[in-house]
Amino acid sequence: MTRKFFLALSQSATLREFMERSPTARRLNRRFIAGVTLEEEIAACASLAEEGIWSTLDHLGENVTSLADGEAACAAYLQALDAIAARGLPASVSLKLTALGLELSEDAAVSHLCTLATRAKQIGSHVEIDMEDHRYTGTTVRIAEAVGRQTGVIRVAIQAYLLRTPADIARLNTAGVMVRLCKGAYTEPDTIALPTKRDVNAAYLSLAKQLLEDGTYPALATHDERMIEALLAHIREHAIPAERFEWEMLHGVRRDLQRDLVRRGYRVRVYVPYGAQWYRYFMRRLAERPANVWFLAKNLLR
Ligand SMILES: Cc1cc2nc3c(=O)[nH]c(=O)nc-3n(C[C@H](O)[C@H](O)[C@H](O)COP(=O)(O)OP(=O)(O)OC[C@H]3O[C@@H](n4cnc5c(N)ncnc54)[C@H](O)[C@@H]3O)c2cc1C
Repeated sequence: MTRKFFLALSQSATLREFMERSPTARRLNRRFIAGVTLEEEIAACASLAEEGIWSTLDHLGENVTSLADGEAACAAYLQALDAIAARGLPASVSLKLTALGLELSEDAAVSHLCTLATRAKQIGSHVEIDMEDHRYTGTTVRIAEAVGRQTGVIRVAIQAYLLRTPADIARLNTAGVMVRLCKGAYTEPDTIALPTKRDVNAAYLSLAKQLLEDGTYPALATHDERMIEALLAHIREHAIPAERFEWEMLHGVRRDLQRDLVRRGYRVRVYVPYGAQWYRYFMRRLAERPANVWFLAKNLLR
């Protein structure tokens, strides 16, 4: 079973409906998803905070099909920001612009984003914009740059596998907008993306170094130990202070590495998803590491 297979399955509406309603399937996703409710999410983030790990809350959802759903997503994020403030958690929120209705009305999505950025700023937090597939890259970078310049509290995910990425990073660095660097989770055509994992890894290292040098409080999002060790050597060699950047990892992935980095004095933020619409996120996690399927199947049978 390959990455492409899981990414193709992630697009099936029928399977998605079935899985999101099934209590058995719900048991499968526990490793990657904190829960369905905001209370479960806050409990997971509070427990990370006790270990010195920061978090970013993702209310799962993407590609909404009505403006009302975009408004509901914005309302859910406002509730999340209120809960972060009430609990005094070291946390931000992460969202997809298509969850705010980008495909239906760019104006509506930008207006929701500005509302959330304003609230985040009031409580000393920030908003992270996930990067979706290449159909949204240009628009997402443009919106992140504009709202980031205006509010100073936007961090946008940028994918190392895209050929356009060095230019996007240079542009965001000049604008003083925060970047979360990841390798990239979608299947993209060779005409716009690097063809091999080796190329993507080399690009990731070089872009991460560029961000450490010129970026505005970047986040290095990876679980790749070799990449992390190479970057740590670079950080030590150039005496880059630990407060200048963050490591970011996903809930349920390499918890050992998360704790180890905190022990070594670095800032670590964990991306913690919650909500009923978990299927597509979950399938992307399987696509990244098909061996997860056997691990989950064993747990289910236990
Ligand atoms: C905080 C965060 C935010 C992200 N945001 C985005 C985004 O907005 N847009 C986007 O396209 N992608 C995003 N990603 C996903 C990213 O693009 C990669 O697909 C994913 O992180 C796997 O790449 P890696 O750097 O961990 O390296 P890999 O080389 O894929 O993995 C390195 C090691 O990490 C572990 N690992 C990695 N993934 C998994 C997994 N799913 N399950 C179990 N173990 C795993 C394994 O031990 C593996 O050997 C994000 C990733 C992180 C950590």
